[in-house]
Amino acid sequence: MNISRFTSVGLKPLTLVSGLIYGGLLNGADHPNIIYVMPDQFRNCAMHFWSEPDFNRYVRFKADPTHTPHLDNFAREAVVLTSAMSNCPLSSPHRGMLMTGMYPDGSGVALNCNSDRPSSNLKQDVVTISDVLSRNGYDCAYIGKWHLDFPTRNNPQHPGTYVENRNPVWDTYTPKDQRHGFDFWYAYNTFDEHKTPHYWDTNGERHDIHEWSPEYEAGKTIEYLKSRKQSGQPFFLVIGFNPPHSPYNSLNDCMEQDYDLYKNVPLSELLVRPNINPELKKKQACAPYYFASVTGDDREFGKILAALKELGLDKNTIVVFSSDHGETMASHVEDPKNSPYIEALNVPFMIRYPEKLKPHVSDLLLSTPDVMPTLLSLAGLKKEIPATVEGNDLTPDLMSLKPLKNAPTAVLYIKNADGNRDANGKVISYFPMSRGVKTDRYTLALTIDRKTNVLKSVLFFDDVKDPYQLHNLSVKDNRAVFQSLCKLMPALLKRANDPWYREKILSDIIPYSNPK
Ligand code: CA
Repeated sequence: MNISRFTSVGLKPLTLVSGLIYGGLLNGADHPNIIYVMPDQFRNCAMHFWSEPDFNRYVRFKADPTHTPHLDNFAREAVVLTSAMSNCPLSSPHRGMLMTGMYPDGSGVALNCNSDRPSSNLKQDVVTISDVLSRNGYDCAYIGKWHLDFPTRNNPQHPGTYVENRNPVWDTYTPKDQRHGFDFWYAYNTFDEHKTPHYWDTNGERHDIHEWSPEYEAGKTIEYLKSRKQSGQPFFLVIGFNPPHSPYNSLNDCMEQDYDLYKNVPLSELLVRPNINPELKKKQACAPYYFASVTGDDREFGKILAALKELGLDKNTIVVFSSDHGETMASHVEDPKNSPYIEALNVPFMIRYPEKLKPHVSDLLLSTPDVMPTLLSLAGLKKEIPATVEGNDLTPDLMSLKPLKNAPTAVLYIKNADGNRDANGKVISYFPMSRGVKTDRYTLALTIDRKTNVLKSVLFFDDVKDPYQLHNLSVKDNRAVFQSLCKLMPALLKRANDPWYREKILSDIIPYSNPK
């Protein structure tokens, strides 16, 4: 229970934590700092080190031919997951799961947030990781892309208006009472002009910048880190880079020095996956710019790591590098995300914590809602994990050199679409269009018909025999495997309090009566 994080002027913070009064600062050794770096749309295979023998033997894919020297070094110091999955691989739903440890129905964020979708908005009454850390004495900071709020006419510079004229409105200002414990704020919701970004600061002042956004955000991050050095109070810092999110079409989107690394490489050498769709020519042409954005993020991440070391904060800071979802980049379909294809589903997840985690590569199947309880546990706050959390604390699996016997064997896949609309055309519910399961070996996604809720289509892959998912398996010819995968779904859907479980959708296929 939080009494008061900051008492009257001049006094030290006074926080009541689980019955103990900390008349001052939390013990840094027990409560490490946490930095969570999350570029948007950064696929796992886009990191160079996966092509090195020490890493390559753990994965079934060919790494993209990128230059990521800082991530490569970081990987040697971290626990590197081959199989972290973004359960609902779309911006706002992922971010909602990350912040709350709940699946989209619980977080309130089932669809991407924009002004047409009042039904998709981070719930005010949910307890987020930042709420818990803030309550337990952490200084919490958010820099970059937030994308968890329903835009309203709350422009602090022009009261009564939206912050942009687009229809629907995507970007918005997040006022203090919606920041869930984040004390330091330098963020926006969503905006895709990478060289002219803008941010609202802690006090709601807007800053319009003429610099590539990750470069600027790394600078802001380093300023923040310097400000924390003397404090002794642990901090939780999230950095939401927008690139390599689209657009990735020109030098307006990335840095020329990074583009130069790729501009003369033939597309056939940049796009190494055998599942490239030959019809997606326009998308293929984006590859040099996408990879340039990846390399730019790598450099800015490297600057943050260097500053952390220089300030002597690296040993007692947990650093995570991950993403909200991947990017198909001309494999299979045009849509870069929001599909069960591995390019979209599989995200980087590397976690460095010199005090407790021995660097290694792990095939632990991580679901997004597992991140909050795992980080809280690593931060010495296992007892503070809220009962609302639907993910698992996977700390024991990260600490051992391979996942333990009871480690997750399957992750839930979720895809939603707009549901019902009100008289003004606003989306007031979501339609739970596809659900599925990803195991080490298989991918299964079931899509239902909007009117009848009967099975409409199936995507079903053997990811061992067919790692590029070129052959959609016949259910008829693989019925036993299909049934064994369907059998995994009730327990996952129940845990997620998913509408498929509540309404027993496809009960002719999914054995709801017996969730494991
Ligand atoms: Ca995104």
